[in-house]
Parts: sequence; structure tokens; C-alpha cells
Amino acid sequence: MKRVLGKGYVRLVDVMGSDLTVVNAARVSYAKASDSLNERDIKLIKFLAREGHTSPFRHAIAQFEIYAPLMVARQWWKYVVGSSHQEATGDSLEAWNESSRRYITEEPTFYIPQRDEWRTAPENSKQGSGKKVDDHIIADAATFQLERYVAQGIKLYENAMKAGIAPEQARLFLPAYGMYVRWYWTASLQSVCHFLDQRLEHDAQKEIQEYAKAILELIKPHFPVSVEELL
Ligand SMILES: Cc1cc2nc3c(=O)[nH]c(=O)nc-3n(C[C@H](O)[C@H](O)[C@H](O)COP(=O)(O)OP(=O)(O)OC[C@H]3O[C@@H](n4cnc5c(N)ncnc54)[C@H](O)[C@@H]3O)c2cc1C
Repeated sequence: MKRVLGKGYVRLVDVMGSDLTVVNAARVSYAKASDSLNERDIKLIKFLAREGHTSPFRHAIAQFEIYAPLMVARQWWKYVVGSSHQEATGDSLEAWNESSRRYITEEPTFYIPQRDEWRTAPENSKQGSGKKVDDHIIADAATFQLERYVAQGIKLYENAMKAGIAPEQARLFLPAYGMYVRWYWTASLQSVCHFLDQRLEHDAQKEIQEYAKAILELIKPHFPVSVEELL
């Protein structure tokens, strides 16, 4: 498991296949298969990636459990091709995705940037962010105000439920963008690399970049050649 962004994490739940899976899927039409990865196989993976022959990369699959603020999850769920985002099964996880907090199973938990984590608005662009906020007064105030806002939200949420309002409506009081949600992401190797290709880039939001780095660290040891060639 890799810790990301305060209380967040990425966990590799399961993997199907290896670089050999890619090679053997590509060679099936010649009725040939390798038992262990050799130089010719590596050349074949390079060729497939370079020429955009992507289907062999879709026979390898990885499944992750992710715990991230909703603002990150919201961006992640846009990867709809070759991916499935499913509710984590189990006792307490159902409340931690899009439908979260219809059932009360976990304390709401929030991502609150610390004083050295706030970034300024970018100078020459409408999206993204610029350098670190180096004025400690502004940064401290932002953390303090967000903490207060979250605490107020939790209080209103609890008060609403005490007054008899259904949890599925009471959750409207929670500041949702920073609330951690948990989900399973099952995706083909091609889809994972497509996600990494976009979200490791400097123009992706820094918070999702941190998750992409964790995904890369977890997946690369299982598919070292394919990941290297697809990115
Ligand atoms: C820096 C950055 C900023 C962004 N800003 C915004 C934003 O402001 N608002 C917003 O809504 N989204 C935004 N996005 C999300 C972006 O629009 C994509 O939805 C997201 O990156 C997923 O990429 P994708 O569509 O390629 O992935 P997938 O949906 O997984 O698709 C994978 C690939 O499959 C192919 N494909 C997908 N659907 C079809 C189809 N119907 N027909 C044929 N081929 C298809 C395409 O080649 C696609 O690249 C941003 C993404 C990035 C990286």
C-alpha cells in the first residue's frame, strides 16, 4: 500500500498477467507462445507500443483500492474506456463512493491542506496552479478556515440527523470536494497507462499527480517493459 495525500492511499488488490501476457496475446495468431520473456519478446512489446497496436495490452488487468478526496475521484472517474469503477465490497465501504453517506458506516474524513501545501493561482492559465503560497499568514488562515468550515459542516450534518432528517439528505451539509471516498478501480494495462500518461503530466492537478505516482510505483514491477514503452 502507498500512502498518498495525508490520509489517502492506493493499494494494489490484484494483478492478472505480466509482460508475457502481452507478448503471447500478440502471437496467438502464429500459434506461438513464450514461457519466459526474452529479447525478441521485448522487441515485440516495443513494436506494439510504438505502432499503436494496443489490443495485446488489454489482456493484462490490475485492480486497485483507492482512498482519495472526492475532487480527485471525480477526475479519475472520467477514465471510462477499459476501466471499471466498482463499489468496494465489504462491511463498511459502501458509503464511500458517489452514493456515499446514504448509509452511515464511517466517520466522514476530509483532506485539509497544511500551511505548506497551498498553491497560488497560475499566472498565464485559467486552470491549474502556480507556485507555493509563501505568505505564511495567508496559508495558515486558509488551513484554519477550511478546518473550521469542515467542523461546521460535520456539526450541521449531525444536527440534521439528530432532528430526524435522512442521512442521504443530511450529507448535503458536508463539504464534499475534500471528503475522502474509497473505491475499487479495475482496469486493463492499456487503460492504466493511458491514465498515467495524462495524470503524471505537469498540467494535471498536483493531487491526482501524487496518486498517479503511487499507481506507477505499484504497477511497474509487474509490467516493467510494457509500462516503460507505453509511457
Ligand atoms: C489536464 C487535464 C484537464 C482536464 N480538464 C477537464 C475539464 O475541465 N473538464 C472535463 O470535463 N474534463 C477534463 N479533463 C478530462 C478529459 O476530458 C478526459 O475525460 C479524461 O482525461 C479521460 O481521458 P479519455 O477520455 O482519453 O479517457 P477514456 O474515456 O478512458 O478514453 C480512452 C480513449 O478511448 C478513446 N475513446 C473514448 N471514447 C471514445 C468514443 N466514444 N469513440 C471513440 N474513441 C473513444 C479515446 O482515444 C480516448 O483517449 C481533463 C483532463 C486532463 C488530463
